[in-house]
Amino acid sequence: MLLDIKKIFSTYDAPVKVSEELDLSKEDFPGYEVPDSIHLELCLVLHGNVLETELYFRAQAVYECARCLERSQQVFDVERSYPVRQADLTDPDAELPFTEDGQLDTKELVYSELLLEIPTVLLCSDDCAGLCPVCGRKKPCACTHETNDATDERLSILKQLLS
Ligand SMILES: [Zn+2]
Ligand SMILES: [Zn+2]
Repeated sequence: MLLDIKKIFSTYDAPVKVSEELDLSKEDFPGYEVPDSIHLELCLVLHGNVLETELYFRAQAVYECARCLERSQQVFDVERSYPVRQADLTDPDAELPFTEDGQLDTKELVYSELLLEIPTVLLCSDDCAGLCPVCGRKKPCACTHETNDATDERLSILKQLLS
């Protein structure tokens, strides 16, 4: 959606609340996808000549764990607040993506906030042990026990020799 910020500045009389469903399933993300639609909420309040623009949305990233390659998902809650001045609308270096005629591209904003929020290396869990180099399965696997048994066996032989 293109939100007319310039118009909000010129006609403001009360806080502006906007909600929108966004589809970013076709967008290109590094190492993950965002298949479900995103519910975005925006609240704009004018304080003096600064338009406090607050944003909130929740997005679910779907990806393969970087260690075990298992399909996983994680939810990210994004909350941001930007002070917008009228001069920002025509400033090419403005923090927010405004069009030439002072409109805010909400989809582009959510997309760029997701890129900042979601790490490019994602795991199924913080303590994921990855794949076993022997059997290729996710650890702990059957080999782990065998290795332990073999060590125990060698230890018991050693103990026998020592006694
Ligand atoms: Zn994993
Ligand atoms: Zn194994």
